[in-house]
Amino acid sequence: MLTIDQAYGPHKFGLSFELFPPKTEVGVENLQFHLEKLMQFRPSYVTCTYGAGGSTRDRTLEVIGGVRKKYQVPVATHLTCVGSTAEELRAYLRRARDLEVHNVVALRGDPPQGETKFQSIAGGFSYANELVEFVRTEFPSLGIAVGGYPETHLEAPSPQVDLDNLERKVDAGADVVITQLFYDNNDFFSFREQCTARGIRIPIVPGLLPVTNGAQIQRISSLCGAKLPGPFLAELDRFEPGSEGQFEVGVEFAAQQTADLIAAGVPGIHYYVLNKSEAIDRVLRAVEVPGNCDE
Ligand SMILES: Cc1cc2nc3c(=O)[nH]c(=O)nc-3n(C[C@H](O)[C@H](O)[C@H](O)COP(=O)(O)OP(=O)(O)OC[C@H]3O[C@@H](n4cnc5c(N)ncnc54)[C@H](O)[C@@H]3O)c2cc1C
Repeated sequence: MLTIDQAYGPHKFGLSFELFPPKTEVGVENLQFHLEKLMQFRPSYVTCTYGAGGSTRDRTLEVIGGVRKKYQVPVATHLTCVGSTAEELRAYLRRARDLEVHNVVALRGDPPQGETKFQSIAGGFSYANELVEFVRTEFPSLGIAVGGYPETHLEAPSPQVDLDNLERKVDAGADVVITQLFYDNNDFFSFREQCTARGIRIPIVPGLLPVTNGAQIQRISSLCGAKLPGPFLAELDRFEPGSEGQFEVGVEFAAQQTADLIAAGVPGIHYYVLNKSEAIDRVLRAVEVPGNCDE
């Protein structure tokens, strides 16, 4: 299995981890330490984010190419349309392919800091569906994942329009939808139902970020629009930000969220691990994650 669509199936549960490229030497060492622990869970694949404005381009490939080389696990590079022409994206994908990176998480990307509206550049793309079409045409053997939004993308005028746009990405050749993080499974279930009603048949994989620090998660959630349920927030608020107590509350919540999603038959789970292993380790030990029967 090298392409991510093959991670999911009637007897396969796709467990995936998302990393980001560290900025410092200490960050690199931390990542190596935590990666070693994460790999004990035998993920179906590992992905690495692509910084705003393509700022981490080289480091993304370094990290994910390194994971591929060391662990021989399938990997995916995230890729955005921000600030790149088609020619530059083509060159990046060729380098990725040379490093045995067989998958792309194809995204539009966010506007650079301080700007509110995404602007495409001359010779570049305006929306992720254009990037998907480009990858599918020029690199037909690559697996392609795209982003989906259970709580609707912040810029979309309505959930229906956002779903129309998701359909464009699927029609352009996406293999898998990975969702933005969310904390109310009902949002995911309703999103999945609407996708199914529209005839979207590719795997729809929930993306989860276990809370380990209430203050940090509020920041992340305000950026991407994920709401935290009131009772969960109240429980977190009983403890100091970043304390052991918040960690325990967060792990328990993520374990319950995971267990409920598995019980509802999700094809896999994508964890935003943020280069750490402690919370995921606890969550995955607390729940029974379906195995891969055809190994
Ligand atoms: C799993 C996942 C991983 C991510 N990884 C990264 C990362 O590594 N680096 C990073 O910078 N960001 C990342 N993001 C964030 C992502 O870049 C932002 O959410 C961004 O604002 C939208 O990206 P998209 O690919 O969903 O865009 P699109 O699908 O292009 O959608 C963007 C907006 O435009 C609308 N739209 C889409 N297509 C059209 C169209 N053809 N015509 C009109 N309107 C349209 C949509 O409804 C939506 O409101 C990730 C998000 C997810 C869910």
